[in-house]
Amino acid sequence: MLATEIQEFAFAWYPVFGVVFMAVLLFIFVKLLGSTVGKTKPEYVKASDTAPVLWEDVQGVDAAKDELMDVAEWLREPDRFAALGAQPPRGVLLYGPPGTGKTMLARAVAAQAGVDFFAASGSSFVEMFVGRGAARIRRLFKEARKSGRAVIFIDEIDAVGGHRSSSGGDGGSGEREQALNQLLVELDGFEKDPGTVIVIAASNTVHKLDEALLRPGRFDRQVLVAPPDRDGREAILRAHAKRKPLAADLDLTDVARKTTGMTGAQLANALNEGAIIAGRAGRFAMTRDDLDEALLRQSVGSQQARRLSTKERLIVAYHEAGHALCRKLVCADPPEILSVVARGGALGFVAHSPQEDSYMESRDELLAEVVCLLGGRAAEEEVMGESYSGASSDLARVHKVCKQMVTEFGMGVALDHDGPPPIAMPTEDYSVSDATRREVDLASMTLAREAHRQARALLAANRDCLDDIAGTALERETLSREELDEIFARHELRALVDSRGSGAALVAMTREKRE
Ligand code: ADP
Ligand code: MG
Ligand code: ZN
Repeated sequence: MLATEIQEFAFAWYPVFGVVFMAVLLFIFVKLLGSTVGKTKPEYVKASDTAPVLWEDVQGVDAAKDELMDVAEWLREPDRFAALGAQPPRGVLLYGPPGTGKTMLARAVAAQAGVDFFAASGSSFVEMFVGRGAARIRRLFKEARKSGRAVIFIDEIDAVGGHRSSSGGDGGSGEREQALNQLLVELDGFEKDPGTVIVIAASNTVHKLDEALLRPGRFDRQVLVAPPDRDGREAILRAHAKRKPLAADLDLTDVARKTTGMTGAQLANALNEGAIIAGRAGRFAMTRDDLDEALLRQSVGSQQARRLSTKERLIVAYHEAGHALCRKLVCADPPEILSVVARGGALGFVAHSPQEDSYMESRDELLAEVVCLLGGRAAEEEVMGESYSGASSDLARVHKVCKQMVTEFGMGVALDHDGPPPIAMPTEDYSVSDATRREVDLASMTLAREAHRQARALLAANRDCLDDIAGTALERETLSREELDEIFARHELRALVDSRGSGAALVAMTREKRE
């Protein structure tokens, strides 16, 4: 009797245990899922977790700093501006190439104003589960408002704020849409609740962003963070070289001169790489050669051990000599270094660096650039009477520049300016007719042909110098700017017109010489 009672009792409870057991399992599972999916990417980082970036640390982007200074001041003393009836800035969009210092600037604003800094990446708001990203945005803004005055930094905002149309049809677009809408709601929410929170976002381009984000009251302040100019580069180099001992021969002013187009991140990297090279060589200070090597690794690649045949070495030497000589003859910027040591994917290379930062180029300058690009191939033809596949990347660049001259700059007219009126012919536009496409091809081929003719004429007229460069390069492998200048000085260079060598004038001069 008792036994059966117990039995019945136990029997009756089995399903309950089962359900409880299942519930516990389910609970643990959900917890685990929640923590792995939700916590793999941290929601945001508060600046107090990391070392602050100071206003003085950011160099070479003075225009952007000027524009951000009043944001920082407003954050520091909001009442002063409110008393004047000034509307608080809401969202600032920093745009520019990667590595120019956008993240740094955002952090510096927070440090300068002495407020909290919350950083998150746009991509962390686009999650697998619909609604999660939006919830994250809500939490981020709530936390920031809680700290009173704060900077919220959203890196790679394109991930959430890209054109809605461009996301058309992809699976995650519902989630993205929700995240974007939430972001808009939060930005607009400042209106009712003007806490002192400023949102700074970063993007590589401003064109790809949804217009809704750029409307007044949202990211209505757009600040370009451009690669630094020469003085800017020097300032960045000096800032990053502070705790790096430099040898006496390393002149940062000279480094700034020859690093046109490089961003702060690239300069910082090069200095670091240079220090590593010096360290591995057992030196106590970074020399000019160490940093030059670091810069070359960054721009061309590391040295490669390639075994070339004697003939191949000769071809490479003449090819590079052709580039260098053409550059000396028609470009404002002389060759800086010539090397027949393989680096990265190249068997040899000639590097040059602009004397000045320039923001536009004339037709003659662009054409001169094409002449230099074709100098390698022209030398092969001139000396070997044959052409080689090594010139393929030069030719790809030639094609690109010539096409750009025709389609973007309206420079597809004949040299004597008798041709059709200069118009830019967009080829990416679907409405362009086949006939126009053909014209573009013809016009860019005419430019390339003209440049090729000039390169051949230049090398033929200066064959003695070409032989000298190639011979010396085979002997020494790498020629510095000084060594190249020595060679140039040994020869009476023909067709050397004014520093900016006009293409038309050049050909005339070589013809004169021959007659
Ligand atoms: P971005 O956000 O524009 O991609 P970052 O701010 O992340 O660039 O910069 C990356 C690194 O490069 C910085 O940590 C810093 O070491 C260096 N750097 C970039 N720009 C500058 C600059 N303007 N001044 C000083 N250092 C810079
Ligand atoms: Mg960044
Ligand atoms: Zn080449």
